[in-house]
Amino acid sequence: MNVPCQTEDNNEQLLCEKQVMFLDEFLKTRMKKAFEDILGNKKTGFNSGHIAEEWEFIHYEDAGNNWRTDGDLFCECGRKLRYQYTLANKTTGLQKHFGLNHLTEHTGIQPDVARQIVKELKQLKSEKREIIQKCIDDWTLTSEGIKWMPPLDQLPEDISWHLTEQMPLLERQLKRLRQIIQEESRRLNEKALQKIVAEEKKKLAEKGLL
Ligand SMILES: [Zn+2]
Repeated sequence: MNVPCQTEDNNEQLLCEKQVMFLDEFLKTRMKKAFEDILGNKKTGFNSGHIAEEWEFIHYEDAGNNWRTDGDLFCECGRKLRYQYTLANKTTGLQKHFGLNHLTEHTGIQPDVARQIVKELKQLKSEKREIIQKCIDDWTLTSEGIKWMPPLDQLPEDISWHLTEQMPLLERQLKRLRQIIQEESRRLNEKALQKIVAEEKKKLAEKGLL
């Protein structure tokens, strides 16, 4: 029970334990960030409330494929849930458990903000499916035609995390990585060219021709 990544879909059973653990961590950290980004936005931005000051994302749980019969996750209103989200009120410390459909009902977070969160979380789940499929297909950088890249510590944190854990990159990360590689190769070429020019100038100067 409550092991989110072993139950999402059958393909997941084909993954090794390390990959399942990565996906679990991936979902949890990205969900927390999604909540904080969207709620945080509201604090400083275009909405009236101070939601981020009021609510903190605690966790997300998945009751598994047999949630209808064996599940023990519930919404505040008593509805049985497969996917349960928990937020805590920062002032009272009170935690609220809910399914995404009842986010507004049980927290008072405005519907437009709730919609943004739902959209973001759906996107996350589709990214998770993308990673699972790529794991099954034995994805590698080479299969993407990438033979060289800057050192991991020079890459964005999320990309270097995936690669350090030997996990596939998402299409959007690949796009970013390709841009970084292109910029870096341009920079290196430029540098090499400048070196050649400087050496040539030095030679000419030595011959008294410059
Ligand atoms: Zn409810």
